[in-house]
Parts: sequence; structure tokens; C-alpha cells
Amino acid sequence: MTEQNQSECIFCQIVAKKIPCFKVYEDERTLAFSDINPLADGHTLVISKNHAVNLLEITPGDLAAVHQTSQKVAHAIMKSLKPAGIAVLQLNGAGANQVVMHYHVHLIPRNRPNDGLTVLEWEAKPGNMKAVERHYKKIVEAI
Ligand code: 5GP
Ligand code: ZN
Repeated sequence: MTEQNQSECIFCQIVAKKIPCFKVYEDERTLAFSDINPLADGHTLVISKNHAVNLLEITPGDLAAVHQTSQKVAHAIMKSLKPAGIAVLQLNGAGANQVVMHYHVHLIPRNRPNDGLTVLEWEAKPGNMKAVERHYKKIVEAI
């Protein structure tokens, strides 16, 4: 991403305090704040302060820091809001419906089956083992 694009990045602007947020937690490498379009009460985003588009680009150090902060914030959500559980969601690329192109983890408090988040429900259907093996081999070859 170019300097100019980065300066237009909404999450970089939140890090730079040019756009306000409901800040839940901050440390040297990460920031956690409330999502303004919450899927559930307490829906919180955790980001790296350094700009990286997604999982494919973020440095291992920033990645570890974001997930350590996610654990800290998840404890606070459980303690304060007492949901039945928390879904951790993280999208990579427009093809996966990533909208903000700055690495972020969604912490989404859940109270299934009555929380209406049917998008996070799926039925386990047995896979075609030949196809599972074919795809597994391709991935292993690329590791
Ligand atoms: P994505 O689809 O990229 O994983 O999700 C981006 C998330 O960022 C969405 O849930 C959206 O509501 C949230 N979001 C977008 N713009 C802002 C903003 O300016 N402030 C906050 N707090 N959240 C935002
Ligand atoms: Zn950014």
C-alpha cells in the first residue's frame, strides 16, 4: 500500500486519533475498540497499529500482539457482558468480504441460538474424501 493510501486508511486514522473511537484497550503495538456496526452487543475490533492489509501481509510480531490483545479483551468481554461465548472472525481479501483493508480481528459476543447470527451457524456435511485429499496435497506442496 502506498503512503497516500495508508493515510486514507480508516483504521490508520483511528490509530492516529484523527477519527474517534470507543477505545477498549491500547498498548505499544495494538488497539482495541468498539465496532460502530455491531453484530452483537460488545462487538469489538482488535488491530495492529502498524498498517498491514491482512493475514498474508502482517508481520509475525504484530500478528502475535493482536492475538494476545484479543485474548485480553475476550476475558474482559466475558467478565463484563457475560455472553454464552465469543466468536473470533477475521476476513482476508475482498473475495472473503474484507471491507477495511487493515488487519483486524472481530470479537463477537454470542448467545446462540437466540442471537440471530445465523451467518455464523453452519451444518457439518461430510466431505468427499477424495476432494479433501486433493486439496490437502496442493496445500502441502505449497508449504
Ligand atoms: P471487515 O468486513 O473488513 O472484516 O470489517 C470491517 C469492520 O469495521 C466492520 O464491522 C465495520 O462495522 C467496522 N468499521 C468500519 N468503519 C469503522 C469506523 O470508522 N469505526 C469503527 N469503530 N468501526 C468501523
Ligand atoms: Zn491502515
